[in-house]
Amino acid sequence: MGDFWGRSVRVVAGAAVLALALAACQRSAAEKPKAAAPPAPAAPAVQQKPDAAAVWRKWGLKPMVPAPAPPADKPLKLPKKGPAKVFESVPTKDRVVFVTLDDGQEKDLRFVEMMNDLKVPVTMFLTKDDVQDDYGYFTPLQALGNRIQDHTVTHPVLPALDLEGQKQEICGDRDALTEQYGTAPTLLRPPFGRWNSLTQEAARECGISGIVMWRASMQIHDFQYDDPKKELHPGDILLAHFRGPEQLKGETMTRMFADLLKQIEKRGFAVGRLEDYISVQ
Ligand SMILES: [Zn+2]
Repeated sequence: MGDFWGRSVRVVAGAAVLALALAACQRSAAEKPKAAAPPAPAAPAVQQKPDAAAVWRKWGLKPMVPAPAPPADKPLKLPKKGPAKVFESVPTKDRVVFVTLDDGQEKDLRFVEMMNDLKVPVTMFLTKDDVQDDYGYFTPLQALGNRIQDHTVTHPVLPALDLEGQKQEICGDRDALTEQYGTAPTLLRPPFGRWNSLTQEAARECGISGIVMWRASMQIHDFQYDDPKKELHPGDILLAHFRGPEQLKGETMTRMFADLLKQIEKRGFAVGRLEDYISVQ
């Protein structure tokens, strides 16, 4: 599959941080007591770790099980040619589910803080019309390793359009996102989950190999499940949105997302990174 998934996320070296650290060292050296100091106590064998649980508590959560190592042989194989493959889950026995976030209307800075704290992987399907007023909002989320994928330019019902119309929507979003974020989307989430065979054809012509559906969709405090027993299953793809108080009856995006994680944690699942389970061949 080579570099199909695009360049890796660039890590910015913290030169300024280093300079600050050096300055702090110098200051503490200068403040050393001049009189004979008592012998230094033996360094503790294990350095005190920052309280990981406290980070989760900050968001009203218990720490989640970390995701297992991504499989070396990626279980979902998408063909390189022919109609883009439609899927709503990934074949795996790992107790992982995958979180996808759509549209991009709400741009809550507290959510960026939350993701920085919790490092839960998400895949973002962004609609150009929803994000073009502030493309930069999504950059720190991308810098955490999260991929940005295609969700069309104007969020239409794709099957209402002919092949050319569908291509304009899919390729147009892909081109804008590639220009802004430096990596080309390889997956499409069709708006409203509506697609037809022309969508599969149009997606392929836009360089997209997979059309991503879902098994459960987050509302405000809980999912709407495909499964009548309201269970999650290994490999399920979950849908949520960049939504805020206007769309969530006054609830914030971070509260919605905390409730989403609680539902996953309660069932003993970890959140995996969708792209780690997919290859194109
Ligand atoms: Zn959408």
